[in-house]
Amino acid sequence: MYKEKLDKILLKIQKPSRYIGGELNSVQKNPDDVTMRFAFCFPDTYDIGMSHLGMKILYSLINEVPEYWCERVFMPLPDMEEKMRENDILLYGLESLEPIKNSDFIGFTLQYELSYTNVLSMLDLAGLPVYSKDRPDLTPIVCAGGPCVCNAEPIADFVDLCILGEGEEVNLELMRLLEKCKAEGCTKHEFLVRASQIEGIYVPSLYDISYNDDGTVKAITPLENAPATVRKRIIKDFDKVYYPENFVVPFSAIVHDRAVVEVLRGCIRGCRFCQAGYLYRPFREKSIDTIEKETISLCETTGYDEVSLSSLSTSDYSEIETLLGRLTDYTDKESINLALPSMRIDRFSDELLQKIKSVRKSGLTFAPEAGTQRLRDVINKNITEENVLESCRIAFEGGYTSVKLYFMLGLPTETMEDMDGIKDLCDKIIDLWYTIPNRPKGKGIQISVSLSTFIPKPFTPFEFEPQPTEEEIDKKQKYLLDIINSKKVNISWSRYPFTILEAVLARGDRRLCDVIYKAWKKGCKLDGWSEYYRYDLWKEAFKECGIDVAFYANRKREYDEVMPWSHMDVLVSRDFFIAENKKAHSEAVTPNCREKCAGCGVNRCIGGKCFE
Ligand code: SF4
Repeated sequence: MYKEKLDKILLKIQKPSRYIGGELNSVQKNPDDVTMRFAFCFPDTYDIGMSHLGMKILYSLINEVPEYWCERVFMPLPDMEEKMRENDILLYGLESLEPIKNSDFIGFTLQYELSYTNVLSMLDLAGLPVYSKDRPDLTPIVCAGGPCVCNAEPIADFVDLCILGEGEEVNLELMRLLEKCKAEGCTKHEFLVRASQIEGIYVPSLYDISYNDDGTVKAITPLENAPATVRKRIIKDFDKVYYPENFVVPFSAIVHDRAVVEVLRGCIRGCRFCQAGYLYRPFREKSIDTIEKETISLCETTGYDEVSLSSLSTSDYSEIETLLGRLTDYTDKESINLALPSMRIDRFSDELLQKIKSVRKSGLTFAPEAGTQRLRDVINKNITEENVLESCRIAFEGGYTSVKLYFMLGLPTETMEDMDGIKDLCDKIIDLWYTIPNRPKGKGIQISVSLSTFIPKPFTPFEFEPQPTEEEIDKKQKYLLDIINSKKVNISWSRYPFTILEAVLARGDRRLCDVIYKAWKKGCKLDGWSEYYRYDLWKEAFKECGIDVAFYANRKREYDEVMPWSHMDVLVSRDFFIAENKKAHSEAVTPNCREKCAGCGVNRCIGGKCFE
């Protein structure tokens, strides 16, 4: 236990409450009574990790098993890391305050590629070698899950295994297997070979990768009877899926400090740039009764006065009006705010609008992503200018005075006309504002335009596309700043050096492991934070490893190229992605799954149609 050592340093660091545990609903167990210990690591800070729903679910799920103990572990900020190293404190779990190196599993959730160096930092701070091959003992097994493991190759040398897909069932299967292997005295290798036979488990060391002379992947060869393709796990009966009755309530504010209820998983839309939309297919909903029960339970056990409905697109819940009606009956009575992030309000009845207007306004946000209908058709973004303007009208009449618009620059087929389209949409929203009779006097409209850069991701129809170069993106950013000169519009944009690293890591292969290692050795960590990001050091690492950044980020892939992730099966077929890519280039749209099945292939896992 590090309690005494921690007492000495906690007053010398920022926000010590991040590092002490003991929060309401955190789980304490007697170490002598547990047979398996799981250190659930979020490779970013406490404030971000504690807002992550997946961690809350798996933490509670594992701790429901009396003899298993799951602890939370986060990336310390540099001030804390320095003090930990000075005082010989190894990375520890917040529940026991004991070093995680003694756990059976050290599990990372990989939500974004820029957290990879944090994985190495955390392993090192835990007192463990960062390379899997240098950890010969059976435990701890270092594993990774989350969306990034659909292409785990850039971190393949560091982790022992990956979990592809939804973790609610497979995590416990894996823990049971390790428990058995420990009892039988297996080696780590024996355990990994057995684990590779569980659906959804990927053991990188059991695959040999060869390369062509042009640097592309030649072949991916499974070894020791590992499956040729690893199929993602999904929960078939989503209404009955495990959901926590309570959440750990932090002592200090975190990014999303509220109760969260997941209403549906998957997405019926087919935005062609959106990886989550394909990774989490098929679309599955919870029943209204289940959502209501979980909402009440979470509010009562946490004391939160705000609850948010979570999903990729909550407006697509089939009975959204009835659901919101039922929930507002409870939240209004208890004075709880019902947060509805990213809801499309143009389809709601007046009665429902009145109801949701009575709850606190969380801001009006749209993601048209592209400035013209032509480009929105290319990306299959199912939102029209009329939808945006109609929603703005409803919102302005209801008292809103600001709008946030998200756009992506560098999308396939984009031209300067699409930039003009962004300005035109802003102008139309401003004109609309002046037509609202009851607009607040003395208050102007404020539009925030946020410009991100397109990053092609695996398992999307755009996985074949190049990311535009820095010069191309710069030109478009400058053009927009030039043509949009209204004081009513604020523009923010993402910095290219962040997006290019994400683009390289997202579609990278195993040769990037050495780059990540070198970059981390040079001091790279917390790469998602602008104040810590050092692209100059990353560039040195790429150069020293002989890796051409443009090969990974700015190169167009052929349809028959073996991708580094070709041995992963997320249930959506390669043929579907190719067909969708071709449709994008001919500006053809694909209807949403509820209107018409586009035959992506995911329904084979449910043995029937996604929608009746
Ligand atoms: S199988 Fe059809 S309905 Fe189901 S997710 Fe794929 S395209 Fe949509």
